[in-house]
Amino acid sequence: MSIKQANIEFNENGAPVATEFADIYFSDAGAFEETQHVFLSNNSIPLRWETWPQKYFTIAETGFGTGLNFLITLKCFSDFIEQQPDTNFNLHFISIEKFPISLADLKQALAVYPELQEFSNELLNQYPEPIAGCHRLHFLQNRVTLDLWLGDVHQVLPQINDRPDGIVDAWYLDGFAPSKNPDMWTQSLFEHMARLATECCTFATFTAAGFVRRGLIQAGFDVQKRPGHGRKREMLAGQINKKQDTPTGLPYFVRNSYQAANQPSTNQYYTSQHKTNKPSIAIIGGGIAGANCAYALAKKGLQATIYCKESQLAQGASGNPQGGFYPQLNAEASVASQIQVSAFTYAARLYKQLLADGFNYSHDWCGTLLMAFNDKVTTRYQKMVSNQTWPESLIHWVDNQQASDKANMHIPYSGLFVPSAGWINPPELTQALIKAAQTQVITNHQLMSLDRDANQWCLTWQNQTLTQADIVIFTTGSDSVDMPYLEELPFRLVRGQVEAIPTNNELDKLSTVLCHKGYFTPNWQGHHALGSTYVKEDRSCEYRQSEQSLNLGMHQRSLDKCDWIHNIQAEGKGRAAIRASTPDHLPMVGAVPNVEQQKQQYQDLYKALPSHCYPTAIDHPNLFMLTGLGSRGLSTAPLSAEILASQITGQALPLSDKLLDALNPNRFLIRALIRRQE
Ligand code: SAM
Repeated sequence: MSIKQANIEFNENGAPVATEFADIYFSDAGAFEETQHVFLSNNSIPLRWETWPQKYFTIAETGFGTGLNFLITLKCFSDFIEQQPDTNFNLHFISIEKFPISLADLKQALAVYPELQEFSNELLNQYPEPIAGCHRLHFLQNRVTLDLWLGDVHQVLPQINDRPDGIVDAWYLDGFAPSKNPDMWTQSLFEHMARLATECCTFATFTAAGFVRRGLIQAGFDVQKRPGHGRKREMLAGQINKKQDTPTGLPYFVRNSYQAANQPSTNQYYTSQHKTNKPSIAIIGGGIAGANCAYALAKKGLQATIYCKESQLAQGASGNPQGGFYPQLNAEASVASQIQVSAFTYAARLYKQLLADGFNYSHDWCGTLLMAFNDKVTTRYQKMVSNQTWPESLIHWVDNQQASDKANMHIPYSGLFVPSAGWINPPELTQALIKAAQTQVITNHQLMSLDRDANQWCLTWQNQTLTQADIVIFTTGSDSVDMPYLEELPFRLVRGQVEAIPTNNELDKLSTVLCHKGYFTPNWQGHHALGSTYVKEDRSCEYRQSEQSLNLGMHQRSLDKCDWIHNIQAEGKGRAAIRASTPDHLPMVGAVPNVEQQKQQYQDLYKALPSHCYPTAIDHPNLFMLTGLGSRGLSTAPLSAEILASQITGQALPLSDKLLDALNPNRFLIRALIRRQE
């Protein structure tokens, strides 16, 4: 959903002022020192980092504003790891912002801090669209993660996925002054701060207001008045004294992380004391999903091995030469389209970063034109625009002429244009991800069985060899239906054939991806991809002339008013593959549920008792999955992999509970138990 941006003026000293709150973002003079004093020093940063024993140090902030607090903390961490190169932990920064500043205003606001330029440029490069929800950004070669949540703190905080031992190690309680923004400073805010706190969590805030002090004490913090910065005499800081035990998530959708044998806390499993104790990880499946998992894990310091049953990577649904890369959006911000938009924007950032890091793959960010090819679709697209569901910068209306300009061909249809979309070569992208992750790939290995053997998984391959692994991840696409432990999950297999259409003088002009019922890509190496058929429960990958006719016929009917579509000559070349989808068309991302145990655990779900009456979900230990991407893997795999890698490592998660639950592999079982159909 689009979100309202901040109204800003710059005062005579160049400091940004929020007109609606009549308050400044940072003080005209000495803002750098103020942040250092109030938020860093009073949370004992960087002192605490010197002996930090865990994998992540997580800071959470109310009010991202110009990102100055974040950037100063980022610089502090950068200096710290430069001075102490053996530092093992990573920094995770969560910030919540109700009215994000526009990119232009942000540029102007940060220009007054040349000492932060290296970091502010990185922030400006990645700065997200004004869309509600979590935007995960990476800095300092992935040593620092920023989760920028756009939305009101009161809506966002209850949706942040917690762990039993908490996630926040330090709170920056920022925001406009309580007198100017009383709505933010409520008891519920303080309670959520305590709920998300780890047992050693500290906090600091610039205000010394009495009701803030009393509210924090009531929520479970020890609070001290300390000297403020500059003209401010006092401020508040302190630490949690009793951890609140009020989980907000549903027990059956709890996300269990990797549990090392004899080690209670995930967050500690490869700490400085356990440097050599990194888990061995086997990823089964060498397509876009597997490569993204390997890459997401590598970003967190974990190396996986990919096992692939074929002699080469990306031989299944990730094997087409050109895949359309665009989000599938609804006129309403439904759960599915919120996931689509978060996933697409994350993927777009990640793919550009890969290129910037020198890992190349064929692609074209040429945009995608979603054509309003019949009345029903036109009404739906018009509604999306009039509802202003998504920001114009992400997707906007184009008339026939504008559509023709974008496509560089005669397009007698209006529609929607997504400028940051385009097409990608999935096999090359798979290779680029694996190269960037420095992942070992073992080909010609088909999994025959998977057994639990003294805290490890034992994988038996078709050639009778065995492999031991601490963690196993299924990224098996359409082979998921044959995998052990996945038998009861409801995959939907769909065969799709895509044509390779030879280019000609007319088609060669096409300069964007055209989408209607099917899709048609610009020329790459002499061919255009034209797809696709959807044949349910058909596992054959042979190329079929009959489906070539279906593909062409579908295009000619949908785009009947385009002369050129009737001149297309197919030459009986193309590729068919099987995609694994799910009944609700969303991926399955998370731990593999122990279906038998969960049926027992939740047999009374239909009685709708309060959620705390139920135990937390039993999954197969250290067994995870990322499958069911259907034909949308290019847009959904990167964020899904980031969720999974964060879950495994116990890092804070980059989506709201509601959206995470919609991806949980056990959701179909839980829904059936609620309806009493299991
Ligand atoms: N930490 C910021 C920085 O480093 O630039 C400065 C924060 S500024 C003083 C306060 C911020 O809180 C503003 O960006 C404002 O839009 C945001 N804010 C105000 N009320 C909020 C709410 N209810 N939820 C989330 N953010 C809010």
